[in-house]
Amino acid sequence: MLYIVPTPIGNLEDITLRALRILKEVKVVLAEDTRTSKRLFDHFGISTPLRSFHAHNEHQVVERVVDELLAGADMALISDAGTPGISDPGFLLARACVQRGVPISCLPGATAFVPALAASGLPCDTFHFDGFLPHKKGRQTRLRMLAALPHTFVLYESPFRLLKCLDELIAVCGPDRMACVARELSKLHEEFQTNTLEWLKNYFSQKEVKGEIVLIVAGKSD
Ligand code: SAM
Repeated sequence: MLYIVPTPIGNLEDITLRALRILKEVKVVLAEDTRTSKRLFDHFGISTPLRSFHAHNEHQVVERVVDELLAGADMALISDAGTPGISDPGFLLARACVQRGVPISCLPGATAFVPALAASGLPCDTFHFDGFLPHKKGRQTRLRMLAALPHTFVLYESPFRLLKCLDELIAVCGPDRMACVARELSKLHEEFQTNTLEWLKNYFSQKEVKGEIVLIVAGKSD
């Protein structure tokens, strides 16, 4: 069995009792960065062996991992924060498990876009998740596609690129489109700012932007 296990995106209280039990019970935990996960394991008294599984080795190791799963070893997959597979490694392994008949389960748990969307005050009955925009090639095409969507869309963005991204969104969506910057979710300095793109750009221009960010933008008709 492969368990996909969400881990906290900031607040360590956001790990579930079931996640802790599974992480203790499996034979191996595949981790994006074993040093980051070791700190989490130390905090919760977990001593299960950690093995690297990240964007730079997943193509090489995925079939071997599935061989081990088929031979009977239960494993868990975790990323540095949140749910594996959501803008993090996980899809390749999940696909290989599905294709080769390994039972797979994902525990419900922490992920950044759901609390951001739910607290943004923007329509969340229908939405599009786009993760990180491409940095160069294809960025403008993607932005234009997003701007034309009739429903809310969700982006992950780094604090260093927030102002540039807001500028680009103003260019394709117009200054009055409503949006939300959700920052440092579940942490001490958690912040939600919902307003027009123009207002958000002015607000975040006046201070140093720090921390992790989810950007939610209302759809064209909203
Ligand atoms: N797997 C994660 C998930 O389930 O949300 C996402 C991992 S992705 C590499 C990291 C990005 O998620 C950050 O750059 C930020 O955009 C967003 N993120 C993660 N933690 C966050 C937090 N506490 N507050 C706001 N955004 C966060």
